[in-house]
Amino acid sequence: MLDLQGDVVEHVDHLERLGITAVRVKEPSDFVHLAGLIIPGGESTCLSRLLNIFGIREIILREFQRGLKLWGTCAGTILLAGKVMDESPCLSLIDIEVQKNAFGSQLDSFTAEVTVPRVAPKPIPLTFIRAPKITRVGRAVDVLLRQDDYIVAAESHNVLVTVFHPELTPSLAFHRYFALKCGLKPSADEESSVIDPTWNSRSWTRYARF
Ligand code: GLN
Repeated sequence: MLDLQGDVVEHVDHLERLGITAVRVKEPSDFVHLAGLIIPGGESTCLSRLLNIFGIREIILREFQRGLKLWGTCAGTILLAGKVMDESPCLSLIDIEVQKNAFGSQLDSFTAEVTVPRVAPKPIPLTFIRAPKITRVGRAVDVLLRQDDYIVAAESHNVLVTVFHPELTPSLAFHRYFALKCGLKPSADEESSVIDPTWNSRSWTRYARF
């Protein structure tokens, strides 16, 4: 779990609910024995600067070559994209094109309930907060979810991208899906990961370091 900025503890809480040990990585020496790395939502410009300042960008690129799986949520998607409209890309590890803040301002944030067949058998809640849109995917990238004329979830062999925030909902389905992609064994099955009834919007506070 990349722990530089953004909604880190919400992801940690979801992973722990699946019996997955979440390691919070802040510096290059933290990158040991990771099966996967989640780049959280937050502020992509800020995250990109911090990646460079702390020397983590190079480490991610090196570990990716060694097979590290990556998942970017919202700002994380922007950092992983090969092309970002009107900006230089940061990590450029998946052949997609994104448009930042494409839904409008923070006030245009919204939720939806949608079935993503490859990820869960039932509809799952999705939360969009000042999200980007994926406007194009390359041939080696599969679309997981399309809405109207844009794409909101996609994956290549080693990279998953979602422009929404599964970590801010009671659904563990995307975390389970990513854990499986990393070769890990999540404790919940497909059915029970759709909604965790014990989750609430304050659950993450037990992992916060105030
Ligand atoms: N709009 C933010 C950015 O461009 C992303 C918002 C988010 O991660 N929820 O970085």
